[in-house]
Amino acid sequence: MSVTLLKKAKTMEPSFPNKSTKIFGGESSGILNWNDIKYPHWYKMYKRLVGNYWQADEINMSSDVKQFDMLTEEEQNAYLKIIGLLSTLDAPQTRTALLLSLYATDSSVQSIMAVIAQQEAVHNESYSYVLSSVVSLKEQNEAFQLGRTDPILLKRNKRLIEGYNQFVEEPSIENILKTLVYTSLLEGLFFYSGFAFFYNLARDNKMVGTSTMISYINRDELEHGRFISELFRATLAEYPDYNTETFIDWVYNEFSMAVDLEIEWSSYVLEDVEGIDLEEMSGYIKYRANKMLRLLGLSEIYPENVENPMKWIRAYVDNIDGTKTDFFEQKSRQYTKTSDLNGFDDL
Ligand code: ZN
Ligand code: ZN
Repeated sequence: MSVTLLKKAKTMEPSFPNKSTKIFGGESSGILNWNDIKYPHWYKMYKRLVGNYWQADEINMSSDVKQFDMLTEEEQNAYLKIIGLLSTLDAPQTRTALLLSLYATDSSVQSIMAVIAQQEAVHNESYSYVLSSVVSLKEQNEAFQLGRTDPILLKRNKRLIEGYNQFVEEPSIENILKTLVYTSLLEGLFFYSGFAFFYNLARDNKMVGTSTMISYINRDELEHGRFISELFRATLAEYPDYNTETFIDWVYNEFSMAVDLEIEWSSYVLEDVEGIDLEEMSGYIKYRANKMLRLLGLSEIYPENVENPMKWIRAYVDNIDGTKTDFFEQKSRQYTKTSDLNGFDDL
């Protein structure tokens, strides 16, 4: 198969129909009527995404400011490392969401990706926000260097970064499909050992402001992962020539490598953190991989891990099956919205 590079979608083309002919590489005028789109149920996704709107400084960090110094040294290190990690995932995601939308020839997809990109921008801001609440500028900057310097983190992000950059160099259908797979790994797998660390602190009533923020990010990432899987399945259905054994094997292989790297990373960063069982964490990572594969329309590859081994996490976030438990939803109402930067005034 020779590689056909896609052109960026035209901004407006009156000779094309309003309703898109294909998600990528199709035709659409650029005019969007949500009541007449190719995949009607995506309107609900759009509404859910917009409904999740939040921003960083709604979260009161004043108790976290006091508590950070009382954490063990190991907890403080893990806190900074994990915020550093999360920022290496959300920063490229802001841009990748935008890049995908530039090639999308379906205005509903462009709108949804615009909301996702906006949320990724908020996630990035929130890492600066929490770090500026608890450590000096020097330590903040050190945490944000990790994505460029920490060998285990670099190893862990390598394939994702290469895949994302490949799409920039060569915007083909195949590279879009691969980017969607990497995005699904990012949204559905790579964040979760980091999230678990903060929820584990919250179990001890530590750093509850940070964990509240993480639960908002977590809720967004679950929605993003869900939409990206939809996009993957629909694109593959529109381009059945790409639905080959070789390609699907590639997907399974990427998942299996990503799981191994994620287990290595989580063991490294959570090694000395009390309350997290690394064996359970590795089961949780495999469980997340199974979930994302199922969303992509594929089979589970870890038959031992179809159940969540860290069920306590469910209390902290909406989970993807739609059973809503809302520990933080209730809790967050007790916070007063603060516009004072980081709640420092409460000190
Ligand atoms: Zn994000
Ligand atoms: Zn996301």
